[in-house]
Amino acid sequence: MTGAAPPDPPPALLVGLARIELRDPLFISDLHLNAGAPATLGRFLRFCEEDAAAHAELVILGDLFEYWIGDDTLEDDSDTVSRAVAAALRALCSRGVRLYVMHGNRDLLLGAGFLRATGAQLLADPCVAEVGGQEVLLAHGDAWCTQDVEYMRFRASVRQEATQRQFLAGPRAARLAFMGAARAQSEAGKRAKAMQIMDVTPAAVDDALRASRQRRLIHGHTHRPAVHRFLLDGEAAERWVLPDWDFDAADPRLRHGGYLAAGAASWRVVALAG
Ligand code: MN
Repeated sequence: MTGAAPPDPPPALLVGLARIELRDPLFISDLHLNAGAPATLGRFLRFCEEDAAAHAELVILGDLFEYWIGDDTLEDDSDTVSRAVAAALRALCSRGVRLYVMHGNRDLLLGAGFLRATGAQLLADPCVAEVGGQEVLLAHGDAWCTQDVEYMRFRASVRQEATQRQFLAGPRAARLAFMGAARAQSEAGKRAKAMQIMDVTPAAVDDALRASRQRRLIHGHTHRPAVHRFLLDGEAAERWVLPDWDFDAADPRLRHGGYLAAGAASWRVVALAG
């Protein structure tokens, strides 16, 4: 007998839930938590205790973390961010709050170990939620930024089992270095790309709504919080874009973050004060 458990499969092989029922959910995304943003981390921990704890469900639609190099980071004492976040989520779960997590483009390596540690369930991207008898499509949003051809190619590659297996097998220092380089490259690319390329392509959103037979959707990723109301094939449609979080900006006026509370009676976006 060896005591070692078999290694988890790479996240690409995890099957997320395609459909969930929600009673009283809060939706968040794009917190981009990392050691360089201590105020945002602190604000999230407070949000868990003060806001999320009072709801039936917390739904995280991607990019909770700025990057994720593998679930073994939870066993590393020096990684205080991932451990603090996992502990806060675990505490919510213990209090009876149901947790759902979708992969973002930054934290797509969240795996079975993270789910075990937090008690969260993985959502497929996209998936359908029923909230108070109404259906809504949920997604991170990056899959619809189809005008960014370079990114779409990268996205397809990093979601492959073989790519993930190879990356996760590497030493921790190499994985951290790779993430650092990828983040720098992504920031430089963002400055060079036209604003509309960085947003979702309306036709891609329309196609997703038609394919899922939905007329309402929630996504993040673009950092352009808004409620878009439009007509799709003659029917009223709605696209709710979640806010990103940043409470570390030097200028207090630029600090921001918030959530969508989707009650049976009404939906509202709540901005959090620092
Ligand atoms: Mn994103």
